Amino acid sequence: MKVAVYPGSFDPITFGHIDIAKRALKVFDRLIILINVHPNKHALFSAEVRKDMVEVTMKEYLNRIEVVIANDLTVDETRKLGATHMVRGLRAVTDFEYEFQLTHANRVLDSEIDSIYFMTDNKYSFLSSALVKEIGLFKGDLEKFIPPYVVEKMKEKMKE
Ligand code: ADP
Repeated sequence: MKVAVYPGSFDPITFGHIDIAKRALKVFDRLIILINVHPNKHALFSAEVRKDMVEVTMKEYLNRIEVVIANDLTVDETRKLGATHMVRGLRAVTDFEYEFQLTHANRVLDSEIDSIYFMTDNKYSFLSSALVKEIGLFKGDLEKFIPPYVVEKMKEKMKE
């Protein structure tokens, strides 16, 4: 049984994240989507709401996908969850430098756990949660970037 963890903020989940998760499911039997909680990075949605949005969005795959809120360092969580790999997505070269740093730091922390990168479909290569939040703030059309349930949650959030 090949198990991977897909860590990220997922604030909120976008079509780009979904694309990467589906690609990972072709290689791994089980995928654990790990919702990162950064103590010094302000998230728009609470970890619980982010988890709910991922679960609703990925509902057809929940026999193979589990969503977990992180309490520890990603490598430690990965080991504890019984996974061998961390999955990350690459959009463009701009992602590379940060991901390069992350992979090597994680290897120093745990040399047994490796990272595996998937490139998203070209049509999502510009898409990020940050962009979605900006478009949402100015009441732009979000349907092209995030699933309907997440659009609803964004609209509720913008009313607050
Ligand atoms: P983080 O804050 O850890 O970067 P994100 O939720 O922004 O978390 O992203 C999690 C992972 O998903 C990262 O590897 C990121 O590069 C990838 N990702 C995000 N959006 C896309 C996208 N549109 N296409 C491919 N990968 C993506």
